Amino acid sequence: MSEPLIKFSNVNKKYGHIHALNDVSVSFDKGEFISVFGPNGAGKSTFLKLLCTMTSPSSGDIFYEGTPLKKLKDDFRSRFGVISHQPFLYSELTAMENLTFYAKLYGVQNIEDRIKELLGKVELYKRRNDKVRGYSRGMLQRLSITRALLHNPDIVVLDEPYTGLDTHASDILTKILVELFDNKHTIIMVTHNMKQGFDASSRLAIIRRGKLVFDEKRDNVTLDEFEHVYTEAVS
Ligand code: ADP
Ligand code: MG
Repeated sequence: MSEPLIKFSNVNKKYGHIHALNDVSVSFDKGEFISVFGPNGAGKSTFLKLLCTMTSPSSGDIFYEGTPLKKLKDDFRSRFGVISHQPFLYSELTAMENLTFYAKLYGVQNIEDRIKELLGKVELYKRRNDKVRGYSRGMLQRLSITRALLHNPDIVVLDEPYTGLDTHASDILTKILVELFDNKHTIIMVTHNMKQGFDASSRLAIIRRGKLVFDEKRDNVTLDEFEHVYTEAVS
């Protein structure tokens, strides 16, 4: 049997006396789309940061295709694309300049074609030579999606990506996620939008007070049932 793509084994994360993640054991396979729900402060962002190697556990182990975090080669990190509230963009540069900078950093091939393709998808191609400073929140988020996907990562991690997005930007994001999922990318997304998360994903998880209190294949529950489970789980 092949190793899971990512495996948490009794993972704990403490910040001083705060136990942000508490003894979490879970694995994810290639091609899954996991939507993670939970109240504010539950440990969701901490979970995502651990998962994409932005921070390491206080105790327990994380394995990537069977390799423990400590022995992971640096190039594994390039398999992640991270989309969070923070756009990681330079406001005094244009979209094109920002993306070219990151593309070079990631060692992307055929930079111009790749940027053109992605900017077309997020409907920003016409604005490519405008400074990011003048972008709306929706445009910024669309551009940051482009930045995160430039190097074609096979694992895409999203932390509340719909927060603050207008309908147009939300629709574009959903379209991109559907396409990534169809193309067998692995997606792990924290969201507060129950319906959007439910519709998009193949697996549902709930984190509460640092614990993984629910983890189920999407097809095994209806949205109504899941909403009920969520209310019970977090009350
Ligand atoms: P969520 O994303 O579910 O809102 P977080 O993972 O951001 O939750 O936070 C979980 C807990 O850990 C919270 O109590 C938060 O205040 C704390 N926390 C998160 N990051 C840090 C940090 N860098 N330093 C100290 N405490 C932190
Ligand atoms: Mg968070």
